[in-house]
Parts: sequence; structure tokens; C-alpha cells
Amino acid sequence: MSKAEIGLIGLGVMGANLALNIAEKGYPVAVYNRTTSRTGTFFENAGELRQNIVPCATLEEFAAQIKPPRPIILMVQAGKAVDEQIEGLRDFLSPGDIIIDAGNANFRDTIRRFDELENSGLTFIGMGVSGGEEGARHGPSIMVGGEKQAYERVESVLKSIAAKFEGEPCCAWLGHGGAGHFVKTIHNGIEYADMQMIAEIYGILRDGFGMAASDIGAIFSEWNKGRLNSYLVEITAAVLETEDPDSGAPIVDRILDRAGQKGTGRWSAIEAQMMGVPATAIESAVAARSLSAERGLRQMAAKAYGGTPAASGTTPDADFIRDLELALFAGKIAAYAQGFAVMDQASEEFQWNLPMPTIARIWRAGCIIRSQFLGTLAKSFEADPDAENLLLIGDFVEMMKEAHPSLRRIVAHAAVNGLPVPALSAALGYFDSFRQARGTANLIQAQRDYFGAHGFERIDQDGEHHGPWGSGL
Ligand code: NAP
Repeated sequence: MSKAEIGLIGLGVMGANLALNIAEKGYPVAVYNRTTSRTGTFFENAGELRQNIVPCATLEEFAAQIKPPRPIILMVQAGKAVDEQIEGLRDFLSPGDIIIDAGNANFRDTIRRFDELENSGLTFIGMGVSGGEEGARHGPSIMVGGEKQAYERVESVLKSIAAKFEGEPCCAWLGHGGAGHFVKTIHNGIEYADMQMIAEIYGILRDGFGMAASDIGAIFSEWNKGRLNSYLVEITAAVLETEDPDSGAPIVDRILDRAGQKGTGRWSAIEAQMMGVPATAIESAVAARSLSAERGLRQMAAKAYGGTPAASGTTPDADFIRDLELALFAGKIAAYAQGFAVMDQASEEFQWNLPMPTIARIWRAGCIIRSQFLGTLAKSFEADPDAENLLLIGDFVEMMKEAHPSLRRIVAHAAVNGLPVPALSAALGYFDSFRQARGTANLIQAQRDYFGAHGFERIDQDGEHHGPWGSGL
């Protein structure tokens, strides 16, 4: 007799923790992993939760152990592995079964998989899961896309394993097709910007002033009590205050300055560009991570140009520290404005009708960008659901008015002192361009007409015009 309510394939970091989370919430779960030994090890280590886990060595056995209609979560490597796994599984499934891809899929792949499974009798859900290992085990933020009826069949399991914010599950159906994976992608894009801007502030204190990691950690720790309260600021403080057990030095000083990336940040930047939505803080963060990987080139350039100027060795005063805090806050507002603007445009293009306040609400707990800020953001979107840009919502106008002068001073300080702040300066550039009622594209229009006869609009006459540029035009 079938025992499991749900199945899960892929017992890597995320899958194993998600399976334990499901079992802990009282849902018997069948598990399968391509490498069978991993299934055995997982089961052996599951302790008391073993009573709710059904380990399976073959896909046939796996399918037979789940009560039909079968909901099956795939938590395997994104890309080709998902297609291979769906293909391998299909022979053992029946009409009505639901395949849930919970990995970090590109939403365009998710849309393709929907199309490929259409008329097969199987249903597909594309589900973004955020929160890393800890979130998967104790409550992630879950962003679901697909047929609403299919979601409703798994809603109770998903809500029970999701993070809770003041009792409210951080799990929601966000729209059809690739909506869930798209929102997860933008979540990660915003996460890149958040992390990069934090790292830039750290760089100003480390390289500009020569401050010790633990002293910088104490500043982040303090900020975590205020408007910047967030998981990323909290872990930044913890990281900076941690010693290397081998040397006793701050561990961060022993870590190579080269960060990897798996694609979601880059996809955010690509999709923003494809839709013509400026997301410069996110793009700069992705680019900064790529440049971090070019360590050899950076070392050559440091030799050629003399590298970052020596630290002043002075201690930043309280006004400067407050400017840093507000600069980070202003940069954060600009990055979130950009991320939500990208989602707004995608919602229109893909007819998802994305619920922005709900997205902000399900990001308040469980996910990597969880913060106090998202609570304010959710309330603001609820009060003004038709707002076209976060920077135009009342509360945010007030917050940005207070914070942008600090962002300006910090970016200027960094520029003068040769300290790189690509994401913070992109955020400032975006803000200044955004609030410029008369921009400089009149000149761009004229240039395009001059060299390409593209025509231009005038402020004082209707229609398309050409300039008196010369005899050839
Ligand atoms: P992981 O620890 O590297 O595990 C990868 C899993 O995929 C393993 O179970 C592996 O099976 C399986 N796999 C790989 N290629 C396969 C194939 N061709 N066919 C079948 N199974 C295959 O990865 P992870 O960190 O758990 O990530 C899983 C998914 O969650 C990814 O899409 C990732 O982007 C996403 N995600 C990760 C995080 C995170 O913080 N780690 C957060 C959110 C989302 P074997 O044991 O046989 O190799």
C-alpha cells in the first residue's frame, strides 16, 4: 500500500533538508536520489523522523510509494538535470500527478516545461524556494507558479513547511506559468545588490580607514537594531566578528576575495535588460561579482595603477557612520525599487498579475533578504497597489528624502578616495536620473537624428522632426 503523501527527488543540501522539514510536519514523504547511497545515508541520519520517510532505490518503487494523485518535488541541480529527471519519471506517473520543480530554474525553462507537459495529463508547478539550507530545514520562503488548482492540492503541505511571519506562512501562489521562478530570480537579483552594497560599505571602512573586521562587525551589529535590521546585516556582523580557529585572526581576512555565482543574479540583469527596465544596482552587483572572479587581472591592474590608496588610519566619526548607514539604506531602496519595477513589467508582459504586497509579505521571513524593511514595503504596496515605482510611494519618498544626501556624500567620498562602490553609485545614478524632470536625452535624440535620420520629437510642436544638420540630411 502507498504510504507517502508526497515525494521528493534530490537529496542534496536543499532536498535533504526540505524532506526532513516535510517529515517533521507530519507528512509521510517518499525520497529518491540518483546516487542511491545518498538515500541510504540520508535515511540513516534522519533519527526519529525516519518514521515519516520512505527511502526508495528506484523511480518505480518511489512512484508506487506515493498516494495518487502524486505531488512530487524535484530538488535537483537546475537545468538539464530537471529535464532528465522529468523524463525518467514520466513512465511511472499517472494523469493528475503534479511535478513540482523547486530548484532555481530559469523561468523560461519553466514555461517550456509547462508546454512540454501540456496534454500529458501531468501538471507542472515551478516553485522558487529561498532560505538556503537552514530555510529548507526549518521554513523557507516559497514562491509558487503554475495552475492555481494544482497549487491548491499541495497548499497545505507547502504552507506547513514554509517560514512563518507573525503566524502567517511565507508561501503563496503568485501566478501561472513561470511566475514563481521569475519572482525567485528577482529575489536573488535583489539579494546580489543587498550583499554587494554591504560589501562596499565594509570596503570603505576596511580600506579607507584601515578598521579591523571585528570593529566593522560591531557597527553592522548596531545597525541591525535599526532601520537596516535584516538577516544579511545580522550575518555580516556575525561573519566579521568570527575568528579563524587556526590563526586567531578574523576569518574574513583569511578568505579569498573571489565570489562565485550560479546564474540567478545574472538572469535578473538579463531579464531587466530584455524588458527595458533599468535595474542598475542589481546589474552592478552581478558585474562586481564577475570582476571579483578575475583576481589575476585585478592584481595586474593593481601593479599597473598602484591599487587602492593606503588607508587613512583615522577613526570615522559618528556623522560619517550615520552617513554610511543611511547610504546603505538609500541604496537598498533604489535596488528594491528596481527589482519590483522589473517584476511589474514582467507581470504585464506575461500576464501574471503578480501581487506585489504578497511578494513583499512572503519575503519577510524564511528567505535570505528577509528584513524589517520588507514589512514597511508590504504595507506601502497595500496602501498604494497601483504605484508604478517604489520611489513614488509616500513612505518611501520620505525615507529616500532623508537618506539620499548620505548616499551622495558616501559615493563622493569613495570616488575621491579610490574606493570602489559600483552598486551604491549605480543606485545614486538611478535615483538622480529618475528624479530629473528634464533629462539629457534631448541631445541623444538629436545625435540619433544627425547620424541616422531617426527623427525627434519637439517640446513645442507635434509630430516627428528632423534637424537642419547639413546638406546630406
Ligand atoms: P546539491 O547539494 O549540489 O545537490 C544536487 C542534487 O541534484 C543531488 O541530489 C544530485 O544527485 C542531483 N542531481 C544532479 N544532477 C542530476 C541529474 N542529472 N539527474 C538527477 N539528479 C541530479 O544542490 P542544492 O544546493 O541542494 O540545490 C538544489 C537546487 O536548489 C538547485 O536548483 C539550486 O540552485 C537550488 N537552491 C539552492 C539553494 C542553496 O542555498 N543551496 C537555495 C535555493 C535554491 P546526486 O547525489 O546523484 O549527485
